[in-house]
Parts: sequence; C-alpha cells; structure tokens
Amino acid sequence: MNTGQNTNERIEKVIIIGSGPAGYTSAVYTSRALLEPLMFEGEESGGQLMITTEVENFPGFPDGVTGPVLMENMRKQAERFGTLFVRRNVTKVDFTSKPYRIWDGDKVHLTHAVIICTGASARYLGLPSEKAFYNKGVSACATCDGAFFRNMNVAVVGGGDTAMEEANFLTRFAKKVYVIHRRDSFRASKIMSERTLKNPKIEVLWDSAIEEIVGDKFVTGVRLKNLKANETNDLAVEGVFLAIGHKPNTELFKGVLELDETGYIKTKPRSSYTSVAGVFAAGDVQDHVYRQAITAAGSGCTAAIDAERWLEQAGL
Ligand code: NDP
Repeated sequence: MNTGQNTNERIEKVIIIGSGPAGYTSAVYTSRALLEPLMFEGEESGGQLMITTEVENFPGFPDGVTGPVLMENMRKQAERFGTLFVRRNVTKVDFTSKPYRIWDGDKVHLTHAVIICTGASARYLGLPSEKAFYNKGVSACATCDGAFFRNMNVAVVGGGDTAMEEANFLTRFAKKVYVIHRRDSFRASKIMSERTLKNPKIEVLWDSAIEEIVGDKFVTGVRLKNLKANETNDLAVEGVFLAIGHKPNTELFKGVLELDETGYIKTKPRSSYTSVAGVFAAGDVQDHVYRQAITAAGSGCTAAIDAERWLEQAGL
C-alpha cells in the first residue's frame, strides 16, 4: 500500500497507545497471542504509577512494591514476548477508514486494531497563583518533589486516597503537613483516612479552600477560607501539593470516539469495545470509578482478549 512518504507500509495487527498497567497488561496478552503489538509508550512511560511510592494493594507483592519497579517489571514482561515499543506520543488518530491511521509527529502507522490506555492526569485548582508558583513550591506529585521540603511546613489539598497517601508520605520529610479539605469528612478509604488522622505530624483543616497561594520567588503560604465560618486566614507553608483528582487523557479522541460528559471514553458494558469497531479502551481512560492499578491491569487483559477475538472474527 502506498499512502505517502512518511507512512510505515506495514499494517500492524494491533497498536497500543499508553503505557500504564492497562497498556502493559494488554501488551503482555497480545504479544503472547503472537499479535506482535506496537506500543506507543509516550515520552514519559509508565503512567501514574511512576509518581507513586509504595503500592501495597497489588496482589503478588506481600511486602509491597514501588510504582516504578512494578511498571518496569510489566514492561520487561511485555518485551519478553515480543512487544515493540516507541517512546513517543501519538499526536493524531484517524479511525474513519480501515486500516486505521495513527500519527507520531509526521510519521503515520497503519493498524487493524487499537487499544487505548492513555490514562488520566492530575487536576489543578485553577488559580493563577498556582501556575505562577508551579515547581516553586506548588506540585502535584509528592513522590517527585517531597524530598525538597525537608523540615518545612507543607499543605496537601484534597480528601481522597491520593491526598491521604501524599500527606503520609510527606511526613517523612516535612516538619508538619496540613491537609486542606473543602468538606468535613474524607472521601478516602477508612484505612487511609485513619492513618492520616493518627499521624502526629498531620493536621487536618476541614471545610477549607485555598483562595490564593502567596510568596515571592517561592511559596511562603496560602490564603485559606473557612467555608462554614466564611473567615479568611493565612497559613505559612513552603509547599502546596495538589491531590484533587484526575482528568482523562482523551484530547486525541474528541469527535473520534464517544466520550461521556466528563470526557472518559465510553465502553460497552462488561467489555472494552468503544463506539468504533476494532478500537478498544482500557484502564483509567474509561474508568472513573475504580481507578486502581489492578483494575486497570485487569481491563488491559480484557481489551487484549477482545482485540484478539475481534481480529480473528474479522479474518485479520
Ligand atoms: P478523588 O476523586 O477520590 O478525590 C479528590 C479529592 O479532591 C476529593 O476529596 C475532592 O473533594 C477534592 N477536590 C476535587 N476538586 C477540588 C477542588 N477544585 N478544590 C478542592 N478540593 C477538590 O481522587 P484521588 O486522586 O484521591 O483518588 C482517585 C481514585 O484512586 C480513588 O478511587 C482512590 O480510591 C484511588 N486511589 C487509591 C490509592 C490506594 O489505594 N493506595 C491511592 C490513591 C488513589 P470532595 O471529597 O469534596 O469531592
């Protein structure tokens, strides 16, 4: 087939986009099924677990495992069975005619099937000061930046499991950790909430919202509003860690696949089928409910089996 100068003429059986637990698991399964998957890992491979410390709830690791080690092991396992990796971001897709086309820059790749595992990214509060102080005290990753805050006071924003995990992790370095939460109860699991409430280095500021992050060259504090008392006061902190959830990485698929009202890819019940035949989705990009490494890995397996059966039925 001649489709232009930058087109790789080979038609892949399956291309996997994204390299978190869903992507690597679908790579292990599709490569063991001899589909020779091509995986676009992105410029930063491994997904959200690369910025996670201890993972204590991934079965098979009784003593826990760090996120980066878990991801490196998954990658090696996929590589062992013949997955080919491209450490680049996909920049465009076209699923309107077959074979489907996927671009990385000006290079086009052809494929019969696609498994999308692009995950979700951290959310921000949307304050101008948050942008101004990004990497100057503001961070969305305690694992990456926690060590810069030795013996300092820091704040973590949010009331979910991520906020609990980050707050507890930060107590390894920080003098004191404030958890700033907009309500009077946590959304986090009981075990993580209790761990936070029992930690003597953590103080929870309930019903509170950050109005502004203040500082000079670096963060020196936050202006806090108590939402019940409607009072404002300043809190001196040198670090602000945002842990207020995630948004799905689906920019590439707007107008291409059916998305739900919050931007997650819609999949058919109990399967990984998207609105386009031969295009499957797995992991956090289509799951805003469970969002665990193990559920992402499980759905990566589902997508691989769905893709394999679809290719077989299509005679490809
Ligand atoms: P969640 O969506 O669970 O929690 C987000 C938190 O941020 C909520 O408390 C929410 O408040 C708060 N929030 C959201 N927007 C704003 C805003 N604009 N201003 C202030 N606060 C805001 O996200 P997580 O990242 O914590 O967790 C995602 C999923 O991953 C969950 O299912 C969680 O269980 C899982 N997870 C599990 C871990 C583990 O088991 N080790 C570790 C980390 C995550 P409100 O509660 O009022 O809505």
